[in-house]
Amino acid sequence: MVDKKAFRTLTSGLYIVTARNADGCDVGCVINTLEQVASEPPQLAMSLNKQNATTAQVCKTGRFAATVLSQAATMELIGRFGFKSSADIDKFEGLDFALCGDVPYVPDSALAYFLVDVQHQVDLGSHILFIGTVAEAEVLGDGEPMTYAYYHGTLRGKTPPKAATYNGGEGEGAPAAAAEADAAPEPAAEPRYAWRCTLCGYIEEGYPDGLPADYECPICGAGPEMFERIEL
Ligand code: FE
Repeated sequence: MVDKKAFRTLTSGLYIVTARNADGCDVGCVINTLEQVASEPPQLAMSLNKQNATTAQVCKTGRFAATVLSQAATMELIGRFGFKSSADIDKFEGLDFALCGDVPYVPDSALAYFLVDVQHQVDLGSHILFIGTVAEAEVLGDGEPMTYAYYHGTLRGKTPPKAATYNGGEGEGAPAAAAEADAAPEPAAEPRYAWRCTLCGYIEEGYPDGLPADYECPICGAGPEMFERIEL
């Protein structure tokens, strides 16, 4: 048997992988599969879904940058890189970014960056595993790294279906009741309700009578059918 709950015991962080193609087009996405896999020379491995726009550019250029997100990273930043496609939007628009080599990275909420030259690609079916040598690495700031557990439990974020660690979505994130337990309302207070995006975790506090039919999640673009009502 394969108990999908077993995968939830694996620990990981959250990272933004970026690449620049020959036309100067910048792409990127969020992953949780970056690992140091060798020390001499220092090498990192990560996997990307074949359908991601970023994957095609890493394959073409043989190079990527990766930043380690801190707990200060906002859902807006994670949503922009994790739940939208570089094929649809310019994810770097309006953001301050820096260059390592010729690859852009977003220093906002990042603890460190790595520039990696890919040496090996392994076809894994839904994903490609990239293994490469670290050409540059630098610490960018202090803080706690964003673990996937923190993202799920505290930020109540979700795993998008194209993620390497997507295992059906069942039980993703912390149950709303448990997550709200620490924020006990005043005993006599009227219950307050909001709408929570089941894809990215964004919470919309307006619209007490229901989201309008043309509503779109500002983080991931999901429609009202993807929202659930929660008590605040
Ligand atoms: Fe969303």
